Amino acid sequence: MPVFWSCYIFFYFCSTITVHYIYKLTTMKQEVVNKHLIDNGIRPLRKRALIYNYLMTKRNHPTVETIFRDLLTKEPSLSKTTVYNVLNLLIEKNLVQTISIEGNELRYDADVKPHGHFKCTSCGKIFDFDVDEKMYPKIPLEGFTTHQVQYYITGECPHCTKAHLN
Ligand SMILES: [Zn+2]
Ligand SMILES: [Zn+2]
Repeated sequence: MPVFWSCYIFFYFCSTITVHYIYKLTTMKQEVVNKHLIDNGIRPLRKRALIYNYLMTKRNHPTVETIFRDLLTKEPSLSKTTVYNVLNLLIEKNLVQTISIEGNELRYDADVKPHGHFKCTSCGKIFDFDVDEKMYPKIPLEGFTTHQVQYYITGECPHCTKAHLN
C-alpha cells in the first residue's frame, strides 16, 4: 500500500541566518557546550548552558513549552521568560534557528545549517534531512533577497508506516 504523503515547501523571508557549525553528537559534555558559548560571545551562565546543552543533545525541535517542561526538574527556578530570553540570545548569535512547522508555534533547532524537516503525522516526531543547496529554487521575483529557505515534508516515519501495515 503506497504511503500517503504530502510535501510542502515554504520560503521564508526573515532575519539573516548564517551557516555555522554542525554537531552530530548525541551527548555533549558541559565544558564543550560552555566553550562553544564563550567562543560565540556568550557568558556560559548556568541556565544558558543548560538550555543550549538540551538543544544540542536532544535535537527534538522543541517548543518553548517543551524546553521549559523538560528542564524544570533539573532547574526548578527556571521560568518561561528565562527560556525565551536565552533562546533569543542564542538566535542573535546564530547558534539556534527557529522553524515554524505548523500554525504559528515556533520550534527551536540548534542545527543552524540549511536542512529540511520531515514531520511524521502519526507520532509527531520531526526528522532532519539534508538539502543540497543546488536544489534551492531560484526566486522568480526581481530585486528580492532570500534569507532562508525551509523544506518541510509531512508523512509517516518508518516505524509508524510499519505499524500501520501490520
Ligand atoms: Zn512516526
Ligand atoms: Zn532541524
